[in-house]
Amino acid sequence: MAGFARLAAPGIRGLASYDPGHDIVALRNRAGGQGLLELGGNESAWGPSPRALAALRSELDRLELYPDPRGGLLKQALSGAFGLSAEHLLLGNGTHELLMQLAQVFAGPERPVLVSRYCFAVYPLAAQAANARLEVVEALPPEHPEQPRGHDIEAMIAALRPDHGLVMLANPNNPTGTWLPLSAIERLLQAAGPDTLVVVDEAYGEFLDQPGCGSALSLLSTYPNLLVTRTFSKLHGLAALRIGVLVGHPEAIAVMERVRESFNVNSLGLAAAAAALGDVRHIAHVLRETAASREALATELKARGWFVHPSQTNFLLVDFGTPEAAAAIDRGLLARDIVVRPMRGYGLPQCLRITVGRLEQNARLLTALDAVVGEADLHAGAGA
Ligand SMILES: *Cc1c(COP(=O)(O)O)cnc(C)c1O
Repeated sequence: MAGFARLAAPGIRGLASYDPGHDIVALRNRAGGQGLLELGGNESAWGPSPRALAALRSELDRLELYPDPRGGLLKQALSGAFGLSAEHLLLGNGTHELLMQLAQVFAGPERPVLVSRYCFAVYPLAAQAANARLEVVEALPPEHPEQPRGHDIEAMIAALRPDHGLVMLANPNNPTGTWLPLSAIERLLQAAGPDTLVVVDEAYGEFLDQPGCGSALSLLSTYPNLLVTRTFSKLHGLAALRIGVLVGHPEAIAVMERVRESFNVNSLGLAAAAAALGDVRHIAHVLRETAASREALATELKARGWFVHPSQTNFLLVDFGTPEAAAAIDRGLLARDIVVRPMRGYGLPQCLRITVGRLEQNARLLTALDAVVGEADLHAGAGA
């Protein structure tokens, strides 16, 4: 061993790289007649807007040119959608890149990062890469009637200190699917000191449709230390093109610009994302279909006795009771060319995260699940 890890910067020495779950390409190549059913990545079962595809195609005859480093047209479209000027916007090669850079810029050895247990896996990675301590607030208990394993906002507020560089939370949250009302986000912002930046990751924000809930974008003008992220990977069905957006105070955005790579966002993504924002019919269609399909799938899973976390996203976190049951179901589904997301890395080995598919995809999943459960005698409550 050459010991190169020893030569890495302190935060990188002990860092484990992002775990992407199953090797999807290998599984695709192996899959039989029906093909691989991919329900592990929270991608859109309804795909991108036809308008996005048309915009992308028209970019194909100038691939030799660098993309617009300012992302001018996409920022213009986002400005219109959010009612904010372009200085409030930073584009990233997916939100993942922006989250890593947020920690690089605003966290460090003296500036710890505050998160909740069961937070998105990229936050701990970002904190550690920046050599910042990660402080994890205990989540609500699994028995909580409304938000099982959801973020405990009062506990997060109690844990806040002025030296925290960043607070990171997703609303709704991945992997739990749980959500917070806007008033809870606002209480957190009121409690945070002026030097603590609060990042509200709204990767699934568009799916959130509950009374008292809404985008934290509406709080930006009141709280200069608020930053909101959005992505084109989920609702808009453009995960392959890697477009994330950071929205915040122009001064915070200007500081973040210092570490942005010159051409971090590609021209196909820029064009497709701008067009996707304008396709309100496609957006409404995907939102409607996702919610209907999610509730139908949740009902089916609950009818089989499994514990399904309430969700305002395009996925369901399902608790199969024991790590052994979850692992057996994961294996059995894989054998039937169906991919879901194991949750060991999130400290939830008894759970699997299942992306909501179209109704016929859900039906295939449920048929396979019933077969696996029957074969291995894993019925809910069996042996518990
Ligand atoms: C999927 C997801 C993102 C989006 O990641 P991209 O890098 O934009 O594809 C961000 N945050 C959360 C919580 C997610 O689940």
